[in-house]
Amino acid sequence: MENRTEISSLGEFGLIEHLTKNFEIRQASTVLSVGDDAAVIDHFGKQTVVTTDLLIEGVHFDLMYTPLRHLGYKSVVVNVSDIYAMNATPTQITMSIGLSNRFSVEALDEFYEGVYAACEKYNVDLIGGDTSASQKGFIISVTALGEVTPGKFVKRNTAQKGDLICVSGTVGGAFLGLTILEREKKIYLENPQIQPDLENEKFIVGKLLKPEARKDIIEFFEQNGIVPTSMMDVSDGVSSEVLHLCRQSNLGCRIYEEKLPVSEEAKAAAFKFGLDPTACALSGGEDYELIFTLKQEDYDKITLQEEIAVIGYMADLEEGRKILTKGGNSFDITAQGWNAFQQ
Ligand SMILES: [Mg+2]
Repeated sequence: MENRTEISSLGEFGLIEHLTKNFEIRQASTVLSVGDDAAVIDHFGKQTVVTTDLLIEGVHFDLMYTPLRHLGYKSVVVNVSDIYAMNATPTQITMSIGLSNRFSVEALDEFYEGVYAACEKYNVDLIGGDTSASQKGFIISVTALGEVTPGKFVKRNTAQKGDLICVSGTVGGAFLGLTILEREKKIYLENPQIQPDLENEKFIVGKLLKPEARKDIIEFFEQNGIVPTSMMDVSDGVSSEVLHLCRQSNLGCRIYEEKLPVSEEAKAAAFKFGLDPTACALSGGEDYELIFTLKQEDYDKITLQEEIAVIGYMADLEEGRKILTKGGNSFDITAQGWNAFQQ
């Protein structure tokens, strides 16, 4: 970077002023925003949904291949995704960061460019936060607030036997994007002259570095009078999330391998790495798609929606939680989803 402004030259309050000065308020519910001891929100009779997420360098992201702008964008997306997963609409976020002096003001500006781009895309206000020095590594903590018509929020423990299990978009792509970036990192560390060529992998690399939350699916539900019987977002992998829905609803399930939505790019990348695309779809995390259950009578309402795939159905607890393979075999579903604690 050409110019480097030390954060210490601005001071904490100068930095906050610098980072938030151009931010405009979008939501009527934001009564008071950044600049006081706390923000004030009025949801006008709606219920408030709250979620929070912590992202730690070296555990959740690697700055060697994660552009700061994408990281800023993604830290907002993973939080609004949890709000959508409640069938609610995100309205505000707070963002707190801990950073060491290896970051300059210019680097932080890049990060906030991504944060603001996501706030614009998802129509949320940044209403507060905190900044602190961190001895090592970059730490990002985001809290998102959202609103929902009273009683319309969708939980995980309310699926019924016979309900259809559905997934939005495609799954497994983010994991394969990560696999590619980890390989490129290794090649680069061994031989810095070799520049990565990711032209054919744009889609899956994008799924990892710049995921989108499924605002469109929640809007589709609203427009078509659909209320899922249970829902969550796919952050740890389909098998792990299916098991959450089953356990919390006290049910079994059947998943069909052939119905899992895997993109052509993800299949090609899996082939290249000698990985099973189904395993990637089941166990790869970070796709930020929605997984939900629908009453069978709602099936007609989703047949034309190409972004929703029916992958199975909820069964009695006694029937177990099984995946039926293309070859006609049946296996118990296990949660080998990726787990930040295993790294
Ligand atoms: Mg979630």
